[in-house]
Amino acid sequence: MTELEFSAHCAAKLEEMILAEGPETVAAFIGEPALATGGMVPPPAGYWDAIQAVLKRYDVLLIADEVVTGFGRMGTMFGSDHFGMQPDIITIAKGLTSAYAPLSGSIVSEKVWQGLADGTDRFGAFGHGWTYAAHPIGSAAGIANLKLLDDLNLVANAGTMGTYLKQGLNAALADHGNVGEIRGEGLLLGVELVKDRVNGPTFFDASEGIGVKVHQALMRRGVISRAMPESDIIGIAPPFCITEGECDQVVGALKESVVEVLGQG
Ligand SMILES: *Cc1c(COP(=O)(O)O)cnc(C)c1O
Repeated sequence: MTELEFSAHCAAKLEEMILAEGPETVAAFIGEPALATGGMVPPPAGYWDAIQAVLKRYDVLLIADEVVTGFGRMGTMFGSDHFGMQPDIITIAKGLTSAYAPLSGSIVSEKVWQGLADGTDRFGAFGHGWTYAAHPIGSAAGIANLKLLDDLNLVANAGTMGTYLKQGLNAALADHGNVGEIRGEGLLLGVELVKDRVNGPTFFDASEGIGVKVHQALMRRGVISRAMPESDIIGIAPPFCITEGECDQVVGALKESVVEVLGQG
């Protein structure tokens, strides 16, 4: 299948499931604009357009989980902007304070807000209080972080550096026989390690811990990555203030680490 065909296939499966369950029983569809911990997987081309058309047809709300993609990670303020999504609810957390202090929240559309407001008139106040809701320390950290994003133009930098870093990774690693997909957008990138790209791809047995070994080799070179839990994928999600020189350092260290663990490929 092409990516567009696969997106249409996913949308058809979703529609089948909504109809099987009964549309009136389905409140919402939740998804990350691009998968982060799930393996740094951007959606196939046309995915969100196809999914949103089905959701609209059956009046199912769309919740965008932007805990990772919110506030600049993809080079746009939200992943929803990046993929042309019109979510009814957006969940936010990590990027809001760059995780320097705990703060999370939900952004709701006018339509969802009206539902809450009307419901309050009819049924009494909608209770959603937590002990630490609207905590001033978390909120102050969030405001300070968002101001820095603006003042230092960091969202645009995430986009520019993301493109630069991905080009560098491709130039250094795409020919290596144990490097599969180099994927992602903005500063949310993944490099997949495979047993054999040329005749496959085939994958390493999980017990070999190839991803973890490459991650550790990177650590020895002063580069923090993440061995993603799904398979041998090296997750790369640097701070938005990264420079071209630092991107080069990441690429050089990853090339050395792959060669150290897997040979010249
Ligand atoms: C970390 C993460 C969460 C969990 O957020 P909490 O604020 O810890 O509940 C949810 N969604 C995504 C995509 C995440 O990466």
